[in-house]
Amino acid sequence: MKFQPKASHFINGAYVEDTSGTPIDVIYPATGEVIAKLHSATPGIVNQALSSAKAAQSEWAAMSGTERGRVLRRAADIMRDRNRELSILETYDTGKPLQETLVADATSGADALEYFGGLTASLTGEHIPLGGGDFVYTIREALGVCVGIGAWNYPTQIACWKGAPALACGNSMVFKPSETTPLSALKVAEILIEAGAPKGVYNVIQGYGDVGASLVTDPRVAKVSLTGSVPTGRKVYAAAADGMKHVTMELGGKSPMIVFDDADIENAVSGAILGNFYSSGQVCSNGTRVFVQKGIKDAFLSRLSERLSTAKIGDPLDEEVNFGPMVSENQMKIALAYIEKGKSEGAWLVSGGNRVDGEGYYMQPTVFADVTDDMTIAREEIFGPVMSVLDFDTEEEVLARANDTEFGLAAGVFTNDLTRAHRIVAGFEAGTCYINTYNLAPVEAPFGGSKMSGVGRENSKLAINHFSEMKTVYVSMNDVEAPY
Ligand code: NAD
Repeated sequence: MKFQPKASHFINGAYVEDTSGTPIDVIYPATGEVIAKLHSATPGIVNQALSSAKAAQSEWAAMSGTERGRVLRRAADIMRDRNRELSILETYDTGKPLQETLVADATSGADALEYFGGLTASLTGEHIPLGGGDFVYTIREALGVCVGIGAWNYPTQIACWKGAPALACGNSMVFKPSETTPLSALKVAEILIEAGAPKGVYNVIQGYGDVGASLVTDPRVAKVSLTGSVPTGRKVYAAAADGMKHVTMELGGKSPMIVFDDADIENAVSGAILGNFYSSGQVCSNGTRVFVQKGIKDAFLSRLSERLSTAKIGDPLDEEVNFGPMVSENQMKIALAYIEKGKSEGAWLVSGGNRVDGEGYYMQPTVFADVTDDMTIAREEIFGPVMSVLDFDTEEEVLARANDTEFGLAAGVFTNDLTRAHRIVAGFEAGTCYINTYNLAPVEAPFGGSKMSGVGRENSKLAINHFSEMKTVYVSMNDVEAPY
């Protein structure tokens, strides 16, 4: 087995196995080859992971912020030193081209570890002066044991985007990667230990949805951060609510990208390509509804088709390749079924539309035009390389149509009219907006969704508030006055 880890789970600083768990075969999407065989966590493994996280948390929280930050920053350095090795693993786990994983996965995980490692020493409460000399001070406290549950599209990044702020605040974590891409998070756990994190501070256990569900309801858990689909988010949020647990929900989207006729067409086409075909379209914030103003529709579509014809589809380990397979056969079938729906509902297939012959789960980057707002491909998240181009006439009309969705993850506008750009962004019902670019998510900026796309924000200083809470201490400097 090419990438067989020492064992399925990483608990209390060591690999742990329990072969009685349901088998999980890890498949390389470019060939269909099984590259590792793991086991889903049994109740015993879940219990072991939560107990070790619980036991480690107070020791970790008691370390100074400077010490905790140093561990995270060391982990960032180790990740950068091993970027190539980690990127190759990520490519095998997800099928994403090495050209992408070299710059977007371990590197973005390292950015999160470095950023939150840098903040750790300055996480404090405040002093609030009151009348008569009384005062309040607040203490920023860790929540306790946090659970992270990941999707399969950015396994290393998700493990770090959740782990880094959680650990920075003095929490411990049990992370459950997606069953489709279970390998990279184990490396994150190994690296954190190597960087000096106490055993048990960051644990990884494998499993399907049932393992995730058992973590969410456990009374030892204070917070759940999920990256996944809206249906899963609904279940996890409801289960967490029962135990009054904190949540962060990073869910799906059907984001709009609006291209006005005064936009730079080359940039707009680049934005549409990045926002639909990066990672073979398997990105939550993708701008899959591309509204193009009627006057530039033909120019936009012809330039888009020309540029798509130069996409290099193939072996994701070849660094020249920039379009890889879908993560799994199942995800490919889902996306191909949406293409059939698009055709049957009357959209115009401009390019792509087919599976690519051969082994592996490859499909062509696909563009539909003449898409209308009511078509299934314009309403549902596809999570594959399928772009819908819709026409529009006026600003007012397009903004209303852009917002006419239950989702609210991201939204973008391309225009050279400065005031219009800001007017549109002010009107967008979305958590993450772009002007004249698309899909960047630097750790310094908040990232997350509105409406059904989520609750809370990842990255930036805001993430700290989602992984800590304030204790208020009222200090009286005066006698206590009681009414009787
Ligand atoms: P999914 O919802 O099927 O699974 C996500 C994770 O939840 C997996 O680890 C799964 O095992 C677990 N899970 C499933 N049922 C559960 C339950 N009842 N309780 C607890 N855990 C459970 O999503 P996916 O197919 O892995 O990923 C694709 C989805 O993720 C898309 O909708 C995409 O938009 C979304 N996503 C969102 C973001 C974001 O930041 N907003 C990023 C990436 C992906």
